[in-house]
Amino acid sequence: MGSPTERPLHAVFLPYMAPGHMMPLVDIARVFAAHGLRVTIITTKMNAQSFKNAIERDIRAGHQIAIEVLPFPAIEAGLPEGCENISKTPTPEMTIKLFHAIEMLQPQIEELIRKCSPDCIASDVLFYWTTDVAAELGIPRLAFSGSGFFNMCVAYCIEHHQPHKHIKLETEPFVVPNMPDQLVLTRSQLPDIVKTRNKFSELFDKLKEAERKSFGMLVNSFYELETAYADYYRKVIGVKAWHVGPVSLLKGGQDDKAERGDEPSVSKHSCLSWLDSKKPNSVLYICFGSLTRFSKTQLNEIASALESTGQFFIWVVGKVLGMDKKDKEEEWWLPDGFEDKMVESGKGMIIRGWAPQVLILEHPAIGGILTHCGWNSILEGVAAGLPMITWPIFAEQFYNEKLVTQVLKIGVPVGNEVWKAWATEETSFISREKIERAISKAMCEREDGEQMRKKAKRLGELARKAVEEGGSSHKDLKLLIEEIKCYARKNASFQKDL
Ligand code: UDP
Repeated sequence: MGSPTERPLHAVFLPYMAPGHMMPLVDIARVFAAHGLRVTIITTKMNAQSFKNAIERDIRAGHQIAIEVLPFPAIEAGLPEGCENISKTPTPEMTIKLFHAIEMLQPQIEELIRKCSPDCIASDVLFYWTTDVAAELGIPRLAFSGSGFFNMCVAYCIEHHQPHKHIKLETEPFVVPNMPDQLVLTRSQLPDIVKTRNKFSELFDKLKEAERKSFGMLVNSFYELETAYADYYRKVIGVKAWHVGPVSLLKGGQDDKAERGDEPSVSKHSCLSWLDSKKPNSVLYICFGSLTRFSKTQLNEIASALESTGQFFIWVVGKVLGMDKKDKEEEWWLPDGFEDKMVESGKGMIIRGWAPQVLILEHPAIGGILTHCGWNSILEGVAAGLPMITWPIFAEQFYNEKLVTQVLKIGVPVGNEVWKAWATEETSFISREKIERAISKAMCEREDGEQMRKKAKRLGELARKAVEEGGSSHKDLKLLIEEIKCYARKNASFQKDL
């Protein structure tokens, strides 16, 4: 093996098996390769399927990037063959089995990393034990959480100041102290783990400790979006971090966008030609990410709201809560006749399964996004310059909602108040009236709607500038690569001196 001055740096990437974690880290891996590093992505067979075409295109373009595939212990963990990703688990019980299966991979992954002998490891925060492997090999570990600075700052301030401790009612608003902006939340919107210690607390303690020991955090965001929070995170909380996003803008080809994450359930052509037939800013895109499932009652309510507002829409309909593969018809339930009516009137397009989201959002006919506030969807909406309707459900989505509605002021909340532990459990009911109100506020051409639209457009321009040559994310990425190089050079000269 040559010294790091003679050979390209080798970075190993270890993305977690959930679309919202895997896609952005794979995007970052591909950008590292585009910057001349040798990259190895460790994953399992079914997960590799979702990005192997993109990697093959990169290899044809001359980039040094490879996928190392490990066998997934689905059967051993009590899961069906091929169930290798959280998006394939329809119940919390199955998700927990999947977590265990992923844990079982630890020894093989560690062995593979040792065999690769890389110059750095970039891994999801959930693979907290990679900090120890990195220490053993004397290389930096970069941690990736999949969220933005704002979320990490809110989580920190709530943990440190415990403002919810003095609040009696679940629905009583309180202000999160010491934040750069006034930020209002309720107890009902906080994750359980913030309020009580539970079976996941020990794991969270380990994640936090591993984050502290890591070289730093890789953040999918851009400085201009969350300036005060990027500064707060680095200077007040004191964590080293590099912002390199929005990663969905990093690789620009149409094939990349059309295939991002999974095989789309509709052709790119049918989506785009349907959108071509609509006026600019006239269509609302509705999607609740890769994991969330709704009950029939809630799906019915969304359908009724769409029908009564007369809003043009593309709705990515997920599988119904609690249904499994035994009943195909029921799995993709919609109210009787709804789809036919919407298609005939030209009002709506239904996508059952996976949509080419990034490609759709970039189309000029899209005028807004109704989102569950997953961080990737928010950033993709921002990158496309769109105002939002926010409908958070689980994980850190309520915090993300507040960034959009209270800080950036480019979104209208639909009014969900209750955090859920799982994407596959029944959500609290949101009435058609609430949905209608949010749609007409966000999509209207009145002055407040127009203000939001202008702000969102401006952020979209800043997002694109951030990833261009010389932009803030481009600069931070180059800085990070330089730091890894320095680390490797120091390692090499230390070994020479021994
Ligand atoms: N996504 C997509 N098509 C779909 C559903 C989701 O391309 O039909 C992508 C979306 O563009 C985003 C990711 O899946 O990049 C979802 O991540 P997010 O953080 O928004 O939510 P999660 O799925 O983690 O809840």
